[in-house]
Order: sequence, then C-alpha cells, then structure tokens
Amino acid sequence: MFEMNMRTEPVSGRLVIDLAAIQTNYRFLCSIAAPAPVAAVVKADAYGLGAVAVSKALCAIGCQDFFVAHLNEAVAIVPHLPSAARVYVLNGLMPGEEGQCADLGVIPVLNGVEQVENWARLARSQGGMLPAVLQVDSGMSRLGLSLAEASAIAHNKPLRDMLDLKWLISHLACADERDSEQNLHQLATFRDACALFPETPGCFANSGGIFLGADFRGAMVRSGIALYGGAPTSGGPNPMTPVVSLTVPVVQTRRVSTGAKVGYGGAFQADRPMVLATIAAGYADGLPRSLGDFGAAWLGAIRLPIVGRVSMDTMTIDISHLDPGTVGLGTQVELIGHNSPIDAVAEAAGTISYEILTRLGRRFRRVLIEAVSPPPSANSQSEEELRL
Ligand SMILES: *Cc1c(COP(=O)(O)O)cnc(C)c1O
Repeated sequence: MFEMNMRTEPVSGRLVIDLAAIQTNYRFLCSIAAPAPVAAVVKADAYGLGAVAVSKALCAIGCQDFFVAHLNEAVAIVPHLPSAARVYVLNGLMPGEEGQCADLGVIPVLNGVEQVENWARLARSQGGMLPAVLQVDSGMSRLGLSLAEASAIAHNKPLRDMLDLKWLISHLACADERDSEQNLHQLATFRDACALFPETPGCFANSGGIFLGADFRGAMVRSGIALYGGAPTSGGPNPMTPVVSLTVPVVQTRRVSTGAKVGYGGAFQADRPMVLATIAAGYADGLPRSLGDFGAAWLGAIRLPIVGRVSMDTMTIDISHLDPGTVGLGTQVELIGHNSPIDAVAEAAGTISYEILTRLGRRFRRVLIEAVSPPPSANSQSEEELRL
C-alpha cells in the first residue's frame, strides 16, 4: 500500500487547460470578425494559461498576430513561433529597450510622443524604417497618444518616414456593455484618429468589441478573454467554449456542533450541527478571499458553499447535505468547471473572469488537453484567408 502511494502522483489541485477549446474559440471569433483577422492577446502568460502553449496552438490554426504587454513577454514567446508570426508589445518600450526589441523583430505599440521619438531615432541610426503600431487614446485615459499628439506625428514627415506603421490601435473601456454610450464616443474619436493616417489600417475591438458590430471591428481585432472562455459581453449567455477547469482534493472532513466557529476571525458560526470539508486551495492559489461566504465548490451538480474565510492554502465547505461517506480524504471537488464557470466564480468573488484566470496559482498540477493540428492543406487555406 505504501509503495503504491509512492508511485502515484501527489494528489493536488488539478488545473485542466483545454488548448483545443481555445482553438475552437479562435475559429468562432474568426467567423464573427471576418473579413478582419483575429489577433491573439497572450499577455500575462496568456491570462495565466501558458503563453507558449497557447500561441503555438493558435499558430497551428493560422493565427499570425500576438499581443503581449511587456517586452520580456515577447522575449519568452518569439523563439517558439514561426518567423511569419508578428508579436506586438502593448505597453510600448521603456527607454533603452529599443535595440533589443528591434533585434528580436518585435513590433512595439508606441503610446506616447517620447516612445515614438525613441523608436524613430533608432530607425534613423539603423538607416531605415522600423515597424511600429501607434496607439491613440480614444477615451480611456490609459495608454496612447491624444488626437493632438497623433496629428502632430502625422504631419511630421521626417518622423513619419522612419516609421513603418502597421496598425493604428485604440482600446475600448466598456466593450462588454452593449449599450454604453462611451463605446460610440470612443468609436468617433478613433475614426478621427484613423483619418490622420489614411494608409494605416485600424485595429480597435477587444473580445467585447467584436460583438459590438462591424463598425467596431476595423481591419483586425484583438481577443484575449473570449479565447480563454470568458464571456465577452456581460449579461446574456456566454457563446464561448469553456477552457479551464479546476478540481481540488478534500484534505479533511469533520462534524461540528451548533455554535462552532469556522476559519480565521471566527467569521462563520454554525447555527446547527454541520459536516464540513476542508479543501486544498486558498488565496495563495488565486482563489480570492472575497469568495468566503459567497463562493462554492461542486460535487457533480451539488453545490457545497464555502463557509468562513478563505485561508492561504485551504478553504472550508459545507457538506452537511451530502449522504454520509460521499466525501472523504482525497475526494476531488470542482472549483471551476461545468457547474462553476469562471464568470460565475468571478461574480461570487466580486471581480472579473480576467482576474480569476490570471491569478490561478502555480501549485496546481497543470494538465494540458492537446491542441489539434489540422492537415497542412486545410491549414494553408485558413492562413490565406486570415492574411487578407
Ligand atoms: C488586454 C487587451 C486586449 C484584450 O482584451 P480582452 O477583453 O481580453 O479581449 C486588447 N487590447 C488591449 C489594448 C489590451 O490591453
């Protein structure tokens, strides 16, 4: 018995990442965005799911454009991608990073005048144009040139001559809200910016923006959360295929009497005799403390509410309503999955699916469901379509 245990995998939480489902989501988004191609946003390690594996899976079905946030994220994925793939750095470059970026063949998103000037200076010193993306701020006040700055750059010929502008981009603040007036204001501002650069194609929509209609989609769209199974639009059913599931083992069960306090701060007190299970995931694994008293684990379709505060490595669930003996040491319960989609977990925690995904911890055993590589002929056709 002892020997058998020695040979089996340690029982830990199991985070299953379905690369084939990410491919399904990519194809679905392509069908909606067409004729605009879909770029994959793989920043923050592909929202915590593994940027190299995700990028390779998407390359295999024709994706050619990848957005990361930092140059070092580009450094991590570039060696794994075919040379035709284009990698863009959303945050742009810090002073001094220009040379490394150019050497890698990575395309910076230039968000401010200083970044534009630094990139143009490098181009001049190398004796030719360098590829770049320009971002304009269309109403989020986060990253990007103001319209006035964009106009000054558009009219500065010596500067323009150094930049091979691939895309003009901007980002929506309320893309998940179909009826937000801000979307229309941002679209109008973005169109004004595009008019300054008539030869440069526009790239505007994130996942939510793709579902706001053709006006918002521009010549390329950038999707993150929808690829990873998150709802692109709030309210209404989620059209995306789930990508992530998380199950964690029970590490202890116990019966408690009326009045027993549960967890830190004694914040939960049993108002009746209860049966509790402590499970092996806590806030150090990315399950927010704010799930305490709101979230739940699931055994099949049975909801097992979290009681008391979420600890660093554990949380406690109420299993009183299960038949005795159903759950014991090592039983796996679901925290994310069929019964508990990431958007529901996020809502219970008072946050968004993005935060749940990007925080999922490194202690779980990560299991990848393999991506599907289509036969070369089918692949080259879809690549052709995407290149248009
Ligand atoms: C993160 C990000 C995206 C992707 O947004 P999703 O809502 O995850 O699709 C697109 N564009 C920019 C500029 C971003 O920062």
